Formats: sequence, structure tokens, C-alpha cells
Amino acid sequence: MIKTKIALAVLLTSFALAPVGAAKPKKQGKAKVTKTVKGKSAKARAPVAKKAVLAAAPSDAAAPQDRLFNTRSMQFLVAQWKIDPESAITVGKYEGAANLTIPSAATRAQRLAFANEWLERFGKLDPRKLSDRQRTDLALLVNKLEADRWYLATFKEFEWNPSLYNIAQPIDVVLNTPYASKPQRLRTLLRRITHVPAYFAAAQASIRNPTHEHIQLALTQAPGTLAVLAELGQAAQQSILTKAEKNLFATRIANAGTALLGYVDFLIALDRQQQATGTARSFRIGKALYEPKFRHDIQAGSSAEQTYRKALAARDELHTRMDALADELWPKVMGTTPKPADRIRKIGMVIDRLSANHVPRDQFFAEIRRQIPLLQQWVTSKNLLTLDADKPLEVRETPMYQRGVAGASIDAPGPYRPQDRTFYNVTPLDGLTAAQAESSLREYNHWILQILNIHEAIPGHYAQLVYANKSPSLVKSLFGNGAMVEGWAVYGERMMLESGYGDNTPEIWLMWSKWNLRVVTNTILDYSVHVLGASEAQAMDMLERQAFQTRSEAT
Ligand code: ZN
Ligand code: ZN
Repeated sequence: MIKTKIALAVLLTSFALAPVGAAKPKKQGKAKVTKTVKGKSAKARAPVAKKAVLAAAPSDAAAPQDRLFNTRSMQFLVAQWKIDPESAITVGKYEGAANLTIPSAATRAQRLAFANEWLERFGKLDPRKLSDRQRTDLALLVNKLEADRWYLATFKEFEWNPSLYNIAQPIDVVLNTPYASKPQRLRTLLRRITHVPAYFAAAQASIRNPTHEHIQLALTQAPGTLAVLAELGQAAQQSILTKAEKNLFATRIANAGTALLGYVDFLIALDRQQQATGTARSFRIGKALYEPKFRHDIQAGSSAEQTYRKALAARDELHTRMDALADELWPKVMGTTPKPADRIRKIGMVIDRLSANHVPRDQFFAEIRRQIPLLQQWVTSKNLLTLDADKPLEVRETPMYQRGVAGASIDAPGPYRPQDRTFYNVTPLDGLTAAQAESSLREYNHWILQILNIHEAIPGHYAQLVYANKSPSLVKSLFGNGAMVEGWAVYGERMMLESGYGDNTPEIWLMWSKWNLRVVTNTILDYSVHVLGASEAQAMDMLERQAFQTRSEAT
């Protein structure tokens, strides 16, 4: 970690301190892009403002309560974007992009008051007098505000999750989304980075007793932030900004980088001290926090515990189904190898043998890119769904500052800028040893890779989020239901196979079962780890043996 830190400090200062005009244009391997996150990271979801015009345009027949609600929700969105410019950026609203929110106690108090104030306002509306559309919008808004309030007042992640303090994404989005001219966007960022030192000072003051794991995550992502600052500095030096502006840029980027490195030092020291004294907070949130978090995040009809029990039953059903598929495939795949009596072992052996069928390491991205148009063709030719060919999808490597959470994800534009590109982020295999890469490639084998693409891209998350941006309700585009967003992608996998994609072979159904088992196991895993205190060994057994994941994936 220290070595990385020094390397990146050098990278950063090398051109932050370079005389104006001396910065060498460096070819970047990574795609230059615009992006707004929606859908995947539930916390990144923000409400919006401009299409509020649409939400606020009631039909002539609208009842007075509906009209009142439409006005209120429009006012709310305008206010929301003003107090939360970072969320605004993620949905394509850039008016406040120059303002960096300082994560201080004062800001949190203001946001808590804001949530209470709007809950009171929305509480005066009688849901029974609203039409369906307005009533469901109201439920989404109330859930959002109650969740905000709960996160601030009860969950208090700002005290124990240092990876929350990450300035990279809004900079990346503003720098790489062509919503305005480049010089204009650079000037916005020149203002935005002014208070980065205050930002990290507030972060430091907010942290009480972080978990070791979240410290590590923050440290893993910090180099990615330095890379974004470096990219910004380079863009500024190569731009048509004035000499004075370029100088100011160099100074502010150096200050921002120094502040981030100071934060890194602070975390390393705190971690060391907590490790020595054994005082780090547990990463397990416990049942008392798990249930309300589940309720706010998932917005489902059942409790976390009920969902956990359903998942246990679903796992058993999947094992039964896989048992039959393994028997069917045994002679073809395993030949004369004796069958073990234990069904889990037997299924595992067939999956293991089939997993040798995968792309070579250097073809991983190329294969994903090759499959996207094929999925598009399939969906169109079978008339499964109308796809909007004008909404560009770009497969790219997950930006460094986002890594360490998911292997694959989607960054979709928000409803204010639906024309922007959607990014399909895939974590590259570069940093892995040959053995680790082989393990990942076996996990994302011939069959699973196709199912992954169905899930993330077509007709999964990408297609759904394009549709979401077309909703006549801005509130619904902005505050979509997490269970629906994830559920759609999972539903899409089975629906594709049922339409004949993959030729209905026992191989693809066995791999689909493994993939579906992953969803089911995630539910079991979360609950077991956070509420039931499962050990790391138990968690690994759940993933590797009972859900047939390769070691690298499970880890
Ligand atoms: Zn291999
Ligand atoms: Zn998903």
C-alpha cells in the first residue's frame, strides 16, 4: 500500500507541478467516458429535477390531490438537487456541479432536517385520494426520505466506512460527459476541487471507529482517485484555458492530492492502532440494523429473515435440479469416472470439468464485446422486447476508484441525460497471477459468460435502465425499486434460456442453475455473515462447495 502511495504521489506531482504547457499527453488505456451511475449502486441513486416539468404536467383530468402531489414532488426534486449536487451529477443534472459537498456534521444536520421537513410535507397528502401513479410515486419518495433519515441518524456509515469519502466519480463524470463545452466543464471542476482539503478534513473528523475492511477498501480505491486527478490535470494543461487558470489548476490538484494522501496516512495509522489494540468495529451490522436496512434498500414485501428462509428452500430446489442435470451429463462429461454418492460432490465434479471450456485470458473483453450484438439480435428476432438501438453501450474496464466491490456492473445515464452512453464495467484480469486468472476464467466459462452478459446488458440491466429513463414518472426513473431492478436482470436470464437461447442443452441449464444459485447464496451469505455471525470458513464453504464457485470468485 505504501509503495503504491508513493508511486501515485510521484505520478500526481509530476504534472501538477509541471510548468504550464509542459505536461506530456499520455496515452491512456482506459476509455474516456461520461457516466452516471444508476441502478447498480443503490446508494448512488439520486432524485432529479429537470424532467420534473414532465412530472408536474398534470392531465386536465387530474384530481386536485394529484395536482398538489405533482407540484410538491417537483419542488422536492429542485430542492434535492440543490442540497445534493453529487447525486444530481449521477442523474445528469449539472447546474450545481461546481459545488463540492463537505461531509461535515453541519451538512449531515442540514440533510436530516431536510428529510424531516419533506417527510412532513408529503405526510400531509392522503394517499387514498391519489391516483395509482401518484400514490406509487409518493411511496417511493417517502421510502427515499425515510431511508436517508435512517442512514444519517441510525446507520451512521459516515463514522465507520472510510470508503464513503471518495471524490473521484463526480470529477470523472463531469470531465468525460459532453453536457457542455470542455473548457466550461474544466472551469466547473476547477471550482469543484477548491475545497478538497476541507473535504478530507471533514472526513477525518467524521470517522470514529471504522471497520478494518472498509479502511482497506478506501486504501484500495485511493490510487484510482489520484489517477482521476492526474487525468484532470492533464486535460486542463492541454486545454484552451488561460495560463492563470492552468496555474491555478496545477496548485489545486496538488493540494487535492496532498489532502488525499494525508487522509490515506490517517487511515493507515488508525488501522495500525486499531489492529494493535483490537478495537476495530466489526464489519457485521447485526440483526437490529440488518432488518431496517433491508426494508429501505429492497422495498420488498417480506422481511430479511423471511427472505433468508426462502433462499434456503430455493437452494435446496436448485440442488435437486442440478442433481438430475449432473446425472444426465455424467456419461458425456465424466465418462467412466465413478459417481460419488454425495450429490453436491457429484454436481461439483461435472461443473468443474465443463468449466475448462472458457476463452483465453487475452480474449476476455473481446468475447464480451462480440456477444452483445448477438444478444441484441436474438432478442429482436424472437420479438422478446423492443430495444432502442440509439442508446450506446460501451464495454470498459471498471474505473480503478470503483474497484473492489463487484466484478461486473452497469453505469447507466440518468433521466436528465438519457442520450449518454451506458458503461458495462468489467474488472480486468491484468493484475492476476496465471492461476488466479485461470480461476476467474473458469468461473466465467463459455456458458456463464453468456449468462453474465444477459444479466448485465441485454435484456438485463442495460435494457431495463434505458426503459426506466422513458418512464412518464420522473420519480420512478430516479428512485426505482431495487428489487425490481435486480429482479428484472435475474428474470431476463431464465427468460432468454426459455426462449431457446443456448439451445436448451443440459450444460447451459446446469450453468444457469449455478448462476441462479449465486443469487440465492448471496441472500443466504449476507444474512449469515451480518446476522448469524458466520465465519470466513463457513462463508467460503457456502460459496465454493455448496454454490460451486471457483476459489478466486469465492474469495
Ligand atoms: Zn483453463
Ligand atoms: Zn445485477
